Amino acid sequence: ITAIMTKEEEIPDSAGAQEFYDKYESKEILGRGVSSVVRRCVDKRTSQDYAVKIIDITPSDKMSPQETEEIREATVKEIDILKKVCGQDNIIQLKDCYESNAFYFLIFDLMKRGELFDYLTEKVTLSEKETRNIMRALMEVVKFLHSQNIVHRDLKPENILLDDEMNIKLTDFGFAVQISPGQTLKEVCGTPGYLAPEIIECSMDAGHAGYDTAVDIWSSGVIMYTLLAGSPPFWHRKQMMMLRMILAGQYDFSSPEWEDRSDTVKDLISRMLVVDPRQRFTATDVLNHSFFSQYVVNEVRQFTPYRRFKVICMTVLATMRIYCNYRRAKPVTKEVIQSDPYAVKPIRKLIDACAFKIYGHWVKKGQTQNRAALFENTPKAILSPSITSHELLTDDKGVVVHK
Ligand code: ADP
Ligand code: MG
Repeated sequence: ITAIMTKEEEIPDSAGAQEFYDKYESKEILGRGVSSVVRRCVDKRTSQDYAVKIIDITPSDKMSPQETEEIREATVKEIDILKKVCGQDNIIQLKDCYESNAFYFLIFDLMKRGELFDYLTEKVTLSEKETRNIMRALMEVVKFLHSQNIVHRDLKPENILLDDEMNIKLTDFGFAVQISPGQTLKEVCGTPGYLAPEIIECSMDAGHAGYDTAVDIWSSGVIMYTLLAGSPPFWHRKQMMMLRMILAGQYDFSSPEWEDRSDTVKDLISRMLVVDPRQRFTATDVLNHSFFSQYVVNEVRQFTPYRRFKVICMTVLATMRIYCNYRRAKPVTKEVIQSDPYAVKPIRKLIDACAFKIYGHWVKKGQTQNRAALFENTPKAILSPSITSHELLTDDKGVVVHK
């Protein structure tokens, strides 16, 4: 009898699922996660579009009953947090949710413009102005979460969605937790390229003191760097090497994309990507940084003689800078284009944009692939027919080099 009962319990109850399918019509897939599929769905009564995250909690060949139980518990936590953060402008709204033994259905507002990741892929890099708007909204969200001691733990451009007016909406609270003040976490979770050093340290040292909300600032720094440079600050073909770079806080502003970026923006990034979490900026510090107070037009301010003098000085300086840049600019000749087309900025942008158009979808699909791979443009040694195989060696990246 026990055996039969257990079997009976295992049969998925379809009541919750039926309720969902009665109310909504499920449409095309919008995105996928480890154990979830997100689809567009239509409310049959109002014809309004929504997004439904369908989380599979049935044991299968790929998942043991224990793993599915963990997913079930994680989903309950995700729903709990989503309800707590409901109402903030830049956080996705959970509209409805249904539960059966086999699936969870979480219904959200549909973000038609998709992920910030795809927007960046389309644009290759963003301007400082656009980065400022996105980061300001993101940091307001992070500040709001941290004020409630909620750590998101998976901030990345794939989890930032864009609505019709290009406002950001933070989503995927699958790893989010609420801690009590002073409590630390030790669990290793997140996405490799965005992991804060202290999370990696926790995985290596059982006696580590743990980490807290500061990990979200690190990930936000990685996002900000990526928006401006097009490629992430920490990347290596071998994941182990990438993790080492993160632990050492080893990144730089040496790529050509950084040439025209302001010192202010670099300063802010370097205060977010600080290895010691106690020295790292908090969300409030970030929002108070001069990067966010630039170009705030205050119309009621009086035009005093001092301000008039300041404007004149700034105009003179700007004119001098433009003139110097003009003097320094090398003429773009046919020879330059033929010998090193990548050195010419407009051509470089064009090449990168073409590469992203062709290979962008492919970068997203592989977990080990990365946008950074598309920016790797150092010439590789070409196999020449006159060289015999014993004269060739491969380096640690698998790139063929001459002996
Ligand atoms: P997971 O926890 O599996 O990563 P997410 O909640 O991050 O799931 O959703 C996976 C993907 O589905 C997102 O990266 C995004 O592309 C898409 N997606 C999720 N929610 C929405 C939404 N409300 N509107 C449009 N697309 C969405
Ligand atoms: Mg996600």
